[in-house]
Amino acid sequence: MAELFYDADADLSIIQGRKVAVIGYGSQGHAHALSLRDSGVDVRVGLHEGSKSKAKAEEQGLRVVTPAEAAAEADVIMILIPDPIQAQVYEESIKDNLKDGDALFFAHGFNVRFGFIKPPANVDVALVAPKGPGHLVRRQYEEGRGVPAIAAVEQDATGNAFALALSYAKAIGGTRAGVIKTTFTEETETDLFGEQAVLCGGASALVKAGFETLVEAGYQPEIAYFECLHELKLIVDLMYEGGLEKMRWSVSETAEWGDYITGPRIITDATKAEMKKVLTDIQDGTFAKNWMDEYHGGLKKYNEYKTQDEQHLLETTGKELRKLMSWVNDEEA
Ligand code: NDP
Ligand code: MG
Ligand code: MG
Repeated sequence: MAELFYDADADLSIIQGRKVAVIGYGSQGHAHALSLRDSGVDVRVGLHEGSKSKAKAEEQGLRVVTPAEAAAEADVIMILIPDPIQAQVYEESIKDNLKDGDALFFAHGFNVRFGFIKPPANVDVALVAPKGPGHLVRRQYEEGRGVPAIAAVEQDATGNAFALALSYAKAIGGTRAGVIKTTFTEETETDLFGEQAVLCGGASALVKAGFETLVEAGYQPEIAYFECLHELKLIVDLMYEGGLEKMRWSVSETAEWGDYITGPRIITDATKAEMKKVLTDIQDGTFAKNWMDEYHGGLKKYNEYKTQDEQHLLETTGKELRKLMSWVNDEEA
């Protein structure tokens, strides 16, 4: 069973006694910086020249300096910028500002797990990752609640790295909900696998294949869109609230029967065998290397795939249909 930690297990005074640099002010960065400050922590935000989020951070009462200045001032440095650029910012602005006993923090283990960032032996290296988007993390904190988080220590130079990570998690509300102990390896590999095989890759491929099957059989795209994409939200909401059991309790007996007999015809042993290969590519670093090559090579294939899917009948149909649904918050409409 997973080890869980709550408010009573974490000592807020540890992080209150440190100087924290939050590098980046995006989804996670704004939530961490504001909640750390509201928890009585000495925090500064590190942002690059020409940063769009700088004005917002300053408006919200935070002091903004360059990433290098933030790292030099602070003794806990939390890196909350996009994963593909972390290694470069680390090399240019952070590495030379690390002192004995400093702590380097992450919210995702990608760069450390795959060796793109190699911290020196004299600093703590830890992970505090809320299991939710930054805006939810901040809102829950303000409401006196919290989003569950996971925490891990990769390198314990001071002998106190986990207590420091728990203290940090407490300052952003994580221990109010519960913090699960993990490792950089487990967090990184399961995160990548989940988003590729199930959440993003698996789900979007399933939706597209179902939609195409109906349209190719002569059914109207609008009807296919409702059946294969729109209604997915209702199903996922039920799973989120009460697992597969609540979903099956809510749908008709006919739908439940179809679930049992047809699900395994769609996700077959061959699909699971492919999932295992996907996991191997993640574990042995193949995925990470290929992704970094793609990213730093100018995102050619990435943009090709993006354009292809933007032009898919599923997407053009949905764009029109969502205009009929006034309650759907549709920025493109
Ligand atoms: P964002 O994409 O939201 O971060 C954007 C921020 O990074 C902006 O403030 C941007 O500045 C800044 N930035 C961009 N380039 C630089 C640079 N060269 N130097 C300094 N700052 C820069 O990141 P997320 O919050 O999504 O992700 C941060 C980390 O948290 C990642 O490791 C991610 O895996 C992890 N994570 C994210 C979750 C999420 O919900 N998004 C959930 C859990 C973990 P500007 O725009 O002003 O130019
Ligand atoms: Mg991810
Ligand atoms: Mg139906």
